[in-house]
Formats: sequence, C-alpha cells, structure tokens
Amino acid sequence: MSYLDNVFSHFHQHNPHQPEFTQAVHEVLETLAPLFERESKYEEHSILERIIEPERQIVFRVAWTDDTGKVRVNRGFRIQYNSALGPYKGGIRFHPTVSPSVIKFLGFEQIFKNALTGLSIGGAKGGADFDPKDKSPGEVMRFCQAYITELYRHIGATVDVPAGDIGVGSREIGYMFGQYKRITGRYEGVLTGKRPLWGGSLARTEATGYGCVYFAQHMLKARNRDMEGRICVVSGAGNVAIYTIEKLQQLGAIPVTCSDSRGFIYDKHGINLQTLQSLKEGANESLELYLKYHPDAVYTPVSDYPDGQNGVWSVPCDLAFPCATQNELNAKDAQTLLANGCFLVSEGANMPSTPEAVELFLNAKILYGPGKAANAGGVATSQLEMAQNASMQQWSFEQVDSRLKLIMENIYRQCAHTAEEFGEPNNLVLGANIAGFRRVADAMIEQGVY
Ligand code: GLU
Repeated sequence: MSYLDNVFSHFHQHNPHQPEFTQAVHEVLETLAPLFERESKYEEHSILERIIEPERQIVFRVAWTDDTGKVRVNRGFRIQYNSALGPYKGGIRFHPTVSPSVIKFLGFEQIFKNALTGLSIGGAKGGADFDPKDKSPGEVMRFCQAYITELYRHIGATVDVPAGDIGVGSREIGYMFGQYKRITGRYEGVLTGKRPLWGGSLARTEATGYGCVYFAQHMLKARNRDMEGRICVVSGAGNVAIYTIEKLQQLGAIPVTCSDSRGFIYDKHGINLQTLQSLKEGANESLELYLKYHPDAVYTPVSDYPDGQNGVWSVPCDLAFPCATQNELNAKDAQTLLANGCFLVSEGANMPSTPEAVELFLNAKILYGPGKAANAGGVATSQLEMAQNASMQQWSFEQVDSRLKLIMENIYRQCAHTAEEFGEPNNLVLGANIAGFRRVADAMIEQGVY
C-alpha cells in the first residue's frame, strides 16, 4: 500500500459519515501524490497523518433567549486546525447546515488557503447550527453574545482570531467583539471584519469578491485575454457575490446573474448593484423583488431549476463565479457551462464545485481557479486588519486594496509555478494544494513533533 492509501484507509476508519470533510481531504491529498514521489521527508515525519488531525476541536452549548422569552439551544463549534504558520485564523459560519463535517472541511481548506497568502496565519473555522434568517436583531445579538461567552476563553489577538463567513457579517462581529471586550476588559484585535469605525480595515468587506476577480484577471492574462465585455454568471447574493459583481463591472465585464437559496435573477443588461444591495443588505428580501425595479430581468425560483441542477449555471456565459456555498455546482452544471462556451471559473465560495465538476473543468483545460486560491483575498485582508490593529494604525482603502492586488498576484504565481514544476501547467488545483501544503508541512517539520 502506498503512503497515501495507508493514510486514506486510516482516515476513513476514523471519520465516518462526514461527507464534506471526506471530500475536502480527498481533493487535497490526491493531488499531493507527485510531491510524495519526489520527497520522502513528509512520509518520514508522518506529516499527512498529523495535518488531517485537528490540533483542537471545541464543541459547546449555546443557550439564548428568544423574543418570546423561551430559552433556545444551539450547538457551537470552533476548530483550531493548524498553527504551524501563525495564530489560528478563519471565519465563523451561522447556518442550519453547520455540522462537524462542514466545520472540519472548512477548517481543513483554511489551512492551505491561509498558507497560500504567504502571511503568518494558521488555519481555523467556527460556527453554529443557528439560522439568523428568521431571527430579530435582538435575537441575533443575544445569540452572538452567548456564542462568545463560551468561545472567549479559547481566542485572543495572538491565539485565534475569528472573522465572518456565511450568516456572520460586521453586525454579528460587532456583537461578538463587544461581548469579548466586556468579559475580558481587553480592546484588542481578537476578531476581524470589524467596522472601520472601531478597528476594522477598510476594503475588508470588498476583499473576497475583489480578490476573486483579481485572480481571474491573472488567469486571463496568462492566455492574453482580458475582462472587457465578458458575460459573467455569478451565484450568491452576499458579500462575496456583491463585490465580485462590483469589481467585474469596474473592469468592463457584464455580470448578468445573482442568486439566493430561493431562486436567481438573470438581467441581460447586467445586475444593478444598487438594487441588489438594497434588497440584501437590509432585510434580506427575496430576489424576486428585483423585477419591480427592472421589469426586463427574469426571476427563476428554485422549484423551476432543471432536474438536479442549479439554474444559474444554465445561463450562457464566458466566465463563471460561484460565490454561494459548497457543492453548488455539480457535474451536470459543469457540462452545461462548458457546452455554452464558458472558459473560466473562479471560485469565490469554499469548495463550490463537486469533485466531478472539477474533473470536467480540468479535462476541458479551461481556466479554473479553486476556492482556496481564488477566494483567499478575504482572509488575507483579515491579516492586514490584524497588522493594523497590532500597530494601532489605519491604512487607506487604496493602501489595503493595492496590497490585496499584490497578494492575489503572488497566490496566482505560486499556483501556476508549482503546477508547471510538476508538469501540469494548467492544473491550479494541484498548484494550490502542493504550494499550500509545502509551506505548512515544512514549518511543522522545523517546529518539532506536535
Ligand atoms: N470566512 C472567510 C474564508 O473562508 C474569511 C476568514 C477570515 O477572514 O478569517 O476565508
């Protein structure tokens, strides 16, 4: 049995019934085979066995009181996955689908994503199976306070620095920051994604979406192409999708879709950002209301999606930006995109394409930027927020944005060079995984057995 087969068989025995986590581990480990053929040190130091085992997992009860006075209970998580490169760093997700498997897949991805940024941040992730959608502002506040009342003892500016993710934006970060400060008495950079008024970084809100488009620009440039006039499909309607759309428009591309869990909008004139923002940033209205302002647009509810597919990907396009959630783009969707002539996919979400879809993209030799590289701009800018907090400075929007551009360029180059080094120049999945893994693994070896 090869080293990898051994590790897989041990992994499967110890992690049953965790589909997302298994998918993420397979996706990374399978692309590392050529590295292990060249270098024996990783096997000698049992790096894989260590890297797939989280350093620490915290699971806790979150009890809070709803508006009727009833006490409600959710399950909270924080996984401190790997600290070889720096303090644990990664977002917090509030969504009913949050489970041990989802948190572990996200934490595992975060290790390599954070490594690719070239910055000093370890990998972590957190969350709760709490659905903020149908909760009042007061309920959301009390939930955030209850969540931090347990988590505060495990985090700190040089220990573990959470941020937002799905269901957690600057409002929730504010409630968590306030609670942390009240309990500990410390005003420190313990969370990122704060509002700029009280310690946040300018351009952090925009960073994931902008970074995902900068990454796409580099993929295009390598083939002497650009953004101008390209028809783009974007999924999602949160921060990542909104600022992906904004940057695409600034660069002369035409993003024609956005979506949420209920359906999607197709606007052939290009998505009107002001309308989208007004629907989503306040009350999280249905996208169907977009039609009130733009009667030419088309709304398709999820119930009308073709069998087993996501309707967004059936819109003909040049470039695709999955910016919603994991496994939102399957093999059928990938076939539809390819048949319609789509030649670039840049992932703003974490693991949005299923393994079968990724294989189709790689076989078709289109430009494919995997999430852990293409969406790393968010966490990279979080680290810039930590740097500003530690030095008690606030940088301008332009300063942060220009650093973000450089970081995304550097990530692209690392992925492309590593892919070339291993004889698969088009394969940025292999490039990202090997480049990220090497950085973490080498640091682990140098820091002794742990
Ligand atoms: N949740 C984001 C991600 O998936 C950002 C994490 C952070 O800023 O720490 O990378």
